[in-house]
Formats: sequence, C-alpha cells, structure tokens
Amino acid sequence: MITRLLIANRGEIACRVMRTARRMGIATVAVYSDADAHALHVRQADEAVHIGPSPARESYLQGDRIIAAAKETGAQAIHPGYGFLSENADFAQAVLDAGLIWIGPKPDSIRAMGLKDAAKKLMQDAGVPTTPGYLGEDQTPETLKEKADAIGYPVLIKAVAGGGGKGMRRVDAAGDFMDALASCKREAASSFGDDRVLIEKYILSPRHIEVQVFGDAHGNVVHLFERDCSLQRRHQKVIEEAPAPGMDEETRESVCAAAVRAAKAVDYEGAGTIEFIADASEGLRSDRIWFMEMNTRLQVEHPVTEEITGVDLVEWQLRVAAGEPIPVQQEDLSINGWAMEARLYAEDPAKGFLPSTGTLERFNLPAAIRPLRYRAERSGTRTQLDLPGEGRIETGVEQGSEISPFYDPMIAKIVCHSDTRQAAALGLAHLVSDAEVWPVRTNAGFLWALLVDPDFMGGKVHTGFIDQHHDDVVFAMNPPEWLLTLAARHQLADVQPKLAGFRLNTSRHTDVQLMDRDDSFTANFAAEVSYDQENYPVLHADHNAVWATLNGKTWRFVAARTDGGGAGAAGDGAILSPMPGKIIAVEVAEGDTVTKGQKLVTLEAMKMEHTLTAPFDGTVSELPVAKDGQVSEGSLLVRVEAAEE
Ligand code: ADP
Ligand code: ADP
Ligand code: MG
Repeated sequence: MITRLLIANRGEIACRVMRTARRMGIATVAVYSDADAHALHVRQADEAVHIGPSPARESYLQGDRIIAAAKETGAQAIHPGYGFLSENADFAQAVLDAGLIWIGPKPDSIRAMGLKDAAKKLMQDAGVPTTPGYLGEDQTPETLKEKADAIGYPVLIKAVAGGGGKGMRRVDAAGDFMDALASCKREAASSFGDDRVLIEKYILSPRHIEVQVFGDAHGNVVHLFERDCSLQRRHQKVIEEAPAPGMDEETRESVCAAAVRAAKAVDYEGAGTIEFIADASEGLRSDRIWFMEMNTRLQVEHPVTEEITGVDLVEWQLRVAAGEPIPVQQEDLSINGWAMEARLYAEDPAKGFLPSTGTLERFNLPAAIRPLRYRAERSGTRTQLDLPGEGRIETGVEQGSEISPFYDPMIAKIVCHSDTRQAAALGLAHLVSDAEVWPVRTNAGFLWALLVDPDFMGGKVHTGFIDQHHDDVVFAMNPPEWLLTLAARHQLADVQPKLAGFRLNTSRHTDVQLMDRDDSFTANFAAEVSYDQENYPVLHADHNAVWATLNGKTWRFVAARTDGGGAGAAGDGAILSPMPGKIIAVEVAEGDTVTKGQKLVTLEAMKMEHTLTAPFDGTVSELPVAKDGQVSEGSLLVRVEAAEE
C-alpha cells in the first residue's frame, strides 16, 4: 500500500486528491511554484517542495524536478491530477523508471489515445462507432478539401494533437475551407508542435456525452455511467451533469458498453473518460452517438459521477495503482439521483470573459443550500421552503488568497446532488447565487442565469446553448433598488455605531449614498422592500462596509453622507479612508481654515477617484497623509476641528 503520495498539481484538484489520501491514512507531499508559496494546497499537505518559478513551464511541467521531489521526501507514488503532466506518456514512463507508482494508466494506453486520428482508428477496429469523417493519411490541402466536400458541409477540422478546445475550425461552406485549414494548421503547429489535422462531419444539435470508465491490472473494466457536458463556451465545459437528461436505458447500455470496449482495447488501468458526440436532433439515440476522444486521467467533472454512484474515484485510483482490483462489480453500481456541477471562473462575463486577478478580499462559497425564506416585509408574512439537495465545494483558494495570472482561471467547482434534475439544478442555482467573491470578478452570475434558464431547466441542452442564449445569460447586473435599501439599513445598523458621530437623522434624511468599487448609488433606506426566492440576497457587514451578493454578483457598499460630508466623515471631524487606496491630491495643509464642502484630499481606489470634503467649517488639525501615499481602509486622512460658533 502507498503510505506517502506526491501530488504533481495545484489548486482544487491537488486539495481534492489530498482529502481522500488523508482519509486513507496516506501522508501527502505538495509541490509548488513561487506564486503558490502560500497556496491552500501547500498548507494542506503534510510536506511541500518548491519546484520553480511561477510559469507552469518552469515548475508544474518540470517532470524531473517533480520526480526528484518525490525521491527526496520518500513518496512512493505520484498523482498527476488533470492538465499539466497528467496525459504525458513520457512523464508517466519516467515516474515508473524512477521506481515510483504512477497513479494513472500505462504509458502505452496514454500514447494510444494521445492523437485523435490514431485513437479513432483504434476505436473503429474495436467496433466502437466513431464520428464520420476523414482521418487524414494524406495531408495535402487539395485532398483534405476533396474529403471535406465528400463528407458535406458543415465540417470540423481538428488538430490530431489538439486538446482543451484548441485547434478546431468549423467550416460551413466549401469556399471557406482553404482559409480555415491554413489557420487551423497554424494554431496546431504553434500550440501542439504538430500541424496534422483530421476532418469530421460537424454534428448539428450536438450534445457532449461522456462515460466514466475504470480499469484495473487484473483485466477488469467497469463503467460508472454517463455525464452530459454539453454546456460549453468555446468548446470548454461550463456546467456538467450526471446522468444525461433524456437518456433512456437502452441508449445508456449501448453507449456505456461501447465505452467499456474502448477502454479494453487499450488495456486501460485507472480512471478514464470516453467522450462521445451525439446528434440529438431527435433525442438521444444509440445509432447517433459517436466516439470523439478518450481522456486518460481523472476528469475535472468527476464529482458528479461520485455523487450519483457514491464512489470515491480518487480512492479507487489509489487502490488500483497499488495493485488492488476494482472493489465492486458492474452489477453493484447504480445511479442514485442527479448531480450537477458548475465551474466557477475568475473572469468577467460582462467584459468578454476577461480573466480577473487579485486578492480575494471576500471569498465565501456556502456548501449548504439556505432554507428559502420567502418574505414580504410589508405584510410580515414569512414562509420557509426547504430545497432538498446537498452542496459540495471543490476549491484550492480561500478568503485572502491571491488569484495570479499564471494558471487556469477556474477557482472552484460548485456541485449539487439531489433526487431529481430539477431539484439539483435549482439547488445549484442557489449555491452559485450565494457565491460571495470580491473584488475578483467571477462568472457566478452567468452560471446562475444558465441554471435558471427555462430551456436549461427543460433539459434542452446542446453545445450551442450558450451562444444561442447569449443575451439572456451574459449581462452587466446593477443592484436593484430594494437591495440598496437593504444594504443601507445594514450599513446603518452595523456600521454607524462604530463610526462615532456618523449621525444620520432618519426623520430628515432618507437617502444614503452607497459606493461600490466603480459606481455610486443612491439608496432610500426608508423604502419598503420585499424579496422572494428569485431575489434572495446574502448580506455581510463589517465595521467599514456591507457586502451584498445577489444572483452571483457581489458588491461592496460603503455609505457616504449626502449632505456635504465625504465618505466616512465622522462627527468629530475625523475623515476616514472609505477603502484602501492611494492619495492623489492633498488640497489643504495643517492649520488651514476650511469651509464646509471644501475639498480636502482625493483618494484613488480601484481606478476611481473619491474626493473627501470638509463636513463643516473649521480648521485642519491633523493631516497624517501626503500625496502618493498608500492608505488602508478606515485610516485617518484628515481631522477638521469645528470652528467656534
Ligand atoms: P476536456 O475538456 O478535454 O474534457 P476537462 O474538461 O477535464 O477536459 O478539462 C481539463 C483541462 O482543464 C486541463 O487539460 C487544463 O487545461 C484545464 N484546467 C482547468 N483547471 C486546471 C487546474 N487547476 N490545473 C490544471 N489544469 C486545469
Ligand atoms: P478537445 O480535445 O479539445 O477536448 P474534442 O474532440 O473533445 O476536443 O472536442 C471538444 C468539443 O468540440 C466537444 O465537446 C464538442 O462540443 C465539439 N465537437 C467536437 N467534435 C465535434 C463534431 N464532430 N461536431 C460538432 N461538435 C464537435
Ligand atoms: Mg475533449
């Protein structure tokens, strides 16, 4: 048995593997780059080894250093996670040559499945249906074009060495073929060092169906049913579920049997996934599902399979790699309920999905679905609705972590398991809705909109879904008025007592200015609010601010007085910084006489300028800041002493 395991990865998957190892009494060794010196996976491991600078090429892809780290620390085995070196047959071989256990399939199995053309040939020989097309023995552009013409448009040109959604071009008309081919070959050469392509019929109404398989060293292969990963953006998965909606028992049996045949054809050991593409124009039919490729590793979306089967796939990986047989027979496996996963990315959908980096000042992903309190404050009614379903969070970051630009922007996976598809989708919608993340932007609002979309709820998934529903699911969300009112009330209740002298006469003023990082809003704190299960916010306050999260978007509100005083102006004339930032102008000097409303200092925070003004007539008695200085939130900027009446 393995007693010490090195995990050659980072982020959520490193933490995920360690969790199972720990439960099995196996000690863990993490590896890390410069950027990850303080990462969660490093702190969760029993031991950690630094392997190089931040870029993956100089650290997580340095196979020799990783093997040396295993030797140094006495680890007997290496788990590669996914991505990085997980599908690198040479690395797998080097691990074995170093006398270590490789948690994955044999290098030959990885090689056999590594190129899409060779894999398809192998599958054809094993009697597995493959996508109609041309495998590209002859790579001259003229031949490729002839083959495409014969297949009939639209076609898909695919780099044989491709992966991660790269190196693919859809061609709709013969006239576009040559240009698309040239650009596909260019991308394939630069990304994969191999410009060979194959041509496939482009499947219309396509659905991505994949089957989890598992093999051991004793010749056993089982499947753990299918997943549907049709919700994709740029050929990358966004939401995954198991089982697949609309899959009948006969079709399931046929596709799962084909997957087992595929795994057996390459003597497969360990966890693997056979990906299929289905033409779902007439629902899922066994004669319209074709082999696409095999991923010879644990897949990102493996948790949904774990949730419906009750199997810990990482535990099986460790047992099988140590020589044990798969612990169950095919007949022992069954589907229990429905599970759905959403990938939380640090990116801003409203800005073309631009990656977002920085410190996670707030990061709070609840794993429990909140009981819904449908509440109408006006009438005072309150009913509680419990959603069945359990949440599961897989992440490699926590509040205070830094999102660096070096790695994949996926920061967490949010999973929900329930009895039915509808309950799982609704439960997951609530979990992503409650994802409080600030100031780093995430796709949580986009995920929420997808999950509550009536077509998605109706199971009408296909790989073009996101493009087709783009305008409904990608939007810049502004805080609704009722949310501003709630935030203002929170601010008054929780913040005001701590800011001595922040007196707001509620009988005379009803408007409160609330500032987010980029915007300023006016809230009427006296307004009546009612909110319901569709609009169910999370509010958290500390002594400076209120964080409000609604439908996957988080705002940080700081109250500012509307009656002349600047943000955080206290009654004793202490002007506090409303947020961390830089002083870009100081308009006064100590001892100056100032009049109410006069500009004192200007602060730049999160690309916004905030000018703080004198709350009343008086004298500048303290001025601890200077131009270009950095200030922290709540620190004293200026003190104004009131003029004698
Ligand atoms: P596929 O799309 O081929 O089915 P997956 O959806 O399982 O594969 O995604 C795997 C890919 O995701 C990896 O090859 C890698 O590029 C990327 N990836 C996402 N998150 C991470 C991470 N934390 N570490 C490494 N790679 C990651
Ligand atoms: P990768 O190695 O990048 O994961 P795949 O071959 O698995 O490449 O294809 C990725 C995605 O591209 C699929 O999930 C599917 O959405 C789409 N796709 C692939 N082949 C076809 C096809 N023949 N017709 C339509 N869509 C396809
Ligand atoms: Mg794929």
